[in-house]
Amino acid sequence: MTERIGFIGLGIMGRPMARNLMKAGFTLTVWNRSQPGIDELVKEGAAKGSSPADVARRSDVVITIVGDSPDVEEVVLGPRGIIEGAHRGLAHVDMTTMSPAVTRRIAERLGEAGIEMLDAPVSGGQQGATDGTLSIMVGGREETLERCRPVLGAMGRKIVHCGPSGAGQTVKLCNQIAVALTNLGMCEALVFAARSGIDPRVMIEAVSAGAGTSWQMENLAPRIVERDFRPGFKVAHQGKDLRLALEAGERVASPLPGTGLVQQMFAALETDGLGEEGTQALVKALERLADLEVQ
Ligand code: NAP
Repeated sequence: MTERIGFIGLGIMGRPMARNLMKAGFTLTVWNRSQPGIDELVKEGAAKGSSPADVARRSDVVITIVGDSPDVEEVVLGPRGIIEGAHRGLAHVDMTTMSPAVTRRIAERLGEAGIEMLDAPVSGGQQGATDGTLSIMVGGREETLERCRPVLGAMGRKIVHCGPSGAGQTVKLCNQIAVALTNLGMCEALVFAARSGIDPRVMIEAVSAGAGTSWQMENLAPRIVERDFRPGFKVAHQGKDLRLALEAGERVASPLPGTGLVQQMFAALETDGLGEEGTQALVKALERLADLEVQ
């Protein structure tokens, strides 16, 4: 039987992910808080649900990718939320990056209503979402993952079962720690090159071919040189992820000194009103300290 899919959250990530599900032949019912995301997907063949509960009622597997933990709580447990559309066999796959502890609480509530939940946050950015090549980190029951694997396979290339409920979110936070610190390393290298009178493009070309390369060096550094700060991944979302990592780190007494530092820098960018820019805007925090602009 082909699963009927519900999709909630049609932002930078959700839209291309939903599109890939349709390309793979799944029928889709979508819902988004604001209208533009809905219009685009409906034009391409999706049906429109009137609320998360309505989407759940009309689906076998309902996917969410919204902002943060309170947003997931709202669309799942709030008024006209997914839980109100509970029916036999319904599975919920949450692909938002959110708190592992809150994930476990939501999974428990859904379990009481007979809904299986997977946490399945993703890495690979807007490009990975568009290309269907995301890395998907899954927490929850293995049987539920096996049932949902073909659905996840339409959006990602690598699907890893990380452990029980919340484990996918914990691994995603590991990813975010690594991503943010690599971003800081790339930005420091750019500012240092500029201050030393080296053409940043030359630095990027040479370092990208050596051990100093990274996804950030190859993808974000060229955008900084072009002064392109449009978001693939927003400063506000990265700040949220680092706060989640610090909270989770404190809970298990894991030292995260580098994460603390880069979280403070992202917080400063948000205070400066740059929350909607892409995470390459991290360079602006360093540029202010150095009193120069990387061009
Ligand atoms: P985005 O462009 O800001 O989209 C967020 C979506 O969630 C929008 O459709 C928004 O609706 C909806 N939403 C937010 N709060 C809601 C609420 N309370 N109730 C209902 N809908 C709500 O963000 P994104 O970049 O797609 O990221 C989505 C999630 O994926 C985040 O958790 C992010 O950390 C994670 N993520 C992002 C990337 C990336 O590179 N962008 C990569 C991996 C993971 P409206 O349209 O009404 O605002």
